[in-house]
Amino acid sequence: MFDTTGFRSHFPYFQHPDRVIYLDNAATTLKPQSLIDATVKFYQSAGSVHRSQYDEEQTALYEQARSQVRQLINAESDKAIIWTSGTTQAINTVANGLIPYIQSDDEIIISEADHHANFVTWSMIAQKCGAKLRILPIQDNWLIDENALLEALNKRTKVVVLNFVSNVTGTEQPVEHLIRLIRKHSSALVSVDAAQAISHVKIDLRKLDADFLSFSAHKIYGPNGLGVLSGKLTALELLQPLIYGGKMVDRVSKQQISFAELPYRLEAGTPNIAGVIGFNAVLSWLNQWDFEQAEHHAVQLAEQTKVRLKNYEFCQLFNSPKPSSVISFVFKNIAGSDLATLLAEQNIALRTGVHCAQPYLSRLGQHSTLRLSFAPYNTQQEVDAFFTALDKSLALLE
Ligand code: PLP
Repeated sequence: MFDTTGFRSHFPYFQHPDRVIYLDNAATTLKPQSLIDATVKFYQSAGSVHRSQYDEEQTALYEQARSQVRQLINAESDKAIIWTSGTTQAINTVANGLIPYIQSDDEIIISEADHHANFVTWSMIAQKCGAKLRILPIQDNWLIDENALLEALNKRTKVVVLNFVSNVTGTEQPVEHLIRLIRKHSSALVSVDAAQAISHVKIDLRKLDADFLSFSAHKIYGPNGLGVLSGKLTALELLQPLIYGGKMVDRVSKQQISFAELPYRLEAGTPNIAGVIGFNAVLSWLNQWDFEQAEHHAVQLAEQTKVRLKNYEFCQLFNSPKPSSVISFVFKNIAGSDLATLLAEQNIALRTGVHCAQPYLSRLGQHSTLRLSFAPYNTQQEVDAFFTALDKSLALLE
């Protein structure tokens, strides 16, 4: 059984006297003490990384973080771990980096399940390149329609974008299987959005066979403003840098500029050193916990919550086929924002709105949904407190 109390004790948030019951973990997770300590320590020291002889200690920690991320997702090499500011920047690095590779009349496949970080970015890139954007439908079980994918693939398909785990319904797409299908029928590059998957799925990038994979540190107990772009070295090498400047170059003369090797060629400028070193501490700390047990605990809380929500006559749930720690729901004839406001007044933090996924919301036939998302530090008492607050709120709204 997962030691929730022990895990929870590493998060200073829970000592805060005015804290709310935090059930919005798909937006961002709480931060452990290890992150805070490492960040403070870095800011109490001097210097940068990869610049001088005196910054060797920081540089070692900075590069250790890269190795830890490589191990976390089983990437092929440390060179295939590129620091970005988050999933959004990682996706933009891929999409913009492929501009020279995408010709007019080429095709890019995305789906209704995609977050705006993909949907908007690839729509803009398709427009810029004169390429066709094909949007796959999702079925009533929220899984990508495989037949539609097979029909869409052709020799002009240059990129297929896959959402791994949805931030709206928590649905996990069978990404490994989908990539195998794609490989059989086309030579397209595959870019996987792992923003939600990173904290819920044990990712094995090599087995997955994705060309690109993106995620944000802040969704797995890490700092804001840090993300990772990974993938196959051969695919990453195709990318034209999105940002130019210092440290991404090999030689610069008035006549000619040559770029550094991966990962540095995609990491121009002074990086988010405090973030990377903080994330390094988080990953070391995280290694002490059983990933599967932690996930099981969060999913169990969500599943119990779903069962209880089903007893409410006017509640409509948008369930993922496989148990997940995310629940999207609406109460018919009650505005989600009204309910969320009343819940917030009773110290319950959940999310309402379109979840940066308007095409998905349209597919659900909703203007907005309420979303609860659980983490391993959440407890049964917090679920009970949610239901007490929900009952009071519904009584007020009747
Ligand atoms: N993709 C998914 C599925 C997400 O849930 C999010 C964040 O909510 C993103 C992409 C964007 O992540 P970030 O805002 O950290 O760049």
